[in-house]
Amino acid sequence: MASQKVIDLINKQITREFESAYIYQGIEAYTANEFNFPGITNFFHIQAQEENSHAYLFIDYLTRIGAKIELGALAAPSTRYDSILAAFEAGLEHEKKVTAWINDIMAAAVEDKDFATQSFLKFFIDEQVEEEENFNNQIDTLKFIAGDVRAMLLFDQELAKRVFEAPQAE
Ligand code: MG
Repeated sequence: MASQKVIDLINKQITREFESAYIYQGIEAYTANEFNFPGITNFFHIQAQEENSHAYLFIDYLTRIGAKIELGALAAPSTRYDSILAAFEAGLEHEKKVTAWINDIMAAAVEDKDFATQSFLKFFIDEQVEEEENFNNQIDTLKFIAGDVRAMLLFDQELAKRVFEAPQAE
């Protein structure tokens, strides 16, 4: 059984994962409102679905170890950004915060010699490397194409291919 400190941190993370979904739904709304790039809108739609699924992985874990689930309030997300690049940069900054929160849970689990939680968290440690890499790649591409309309259309077509795959934590 995990310590109350670890359980409290996981409960906070559940709200943060739902809030991450809401932040990406805000970016999805921004791109849908301001542009006609359905692929970019799709990218953030799938991103939001992924964040919801992350919240449920934490919920399932607490359920499995017999801990009580608690849900916090969500703040309204922004639906206004200066540009598509700025929206992706906001996504990267958000993912860096998520990485730090996951690391804090891992640090508490290590301190407690809570090996079950450490094993469970491995998925999220790896996932955050992927999330930051993903946003960094999109930002690099957007900077490189720098508003070139034809390149933007190709970028949009590329992001239209993203599909939701339910993550499986071991
Ligand atoms: Mg997440």
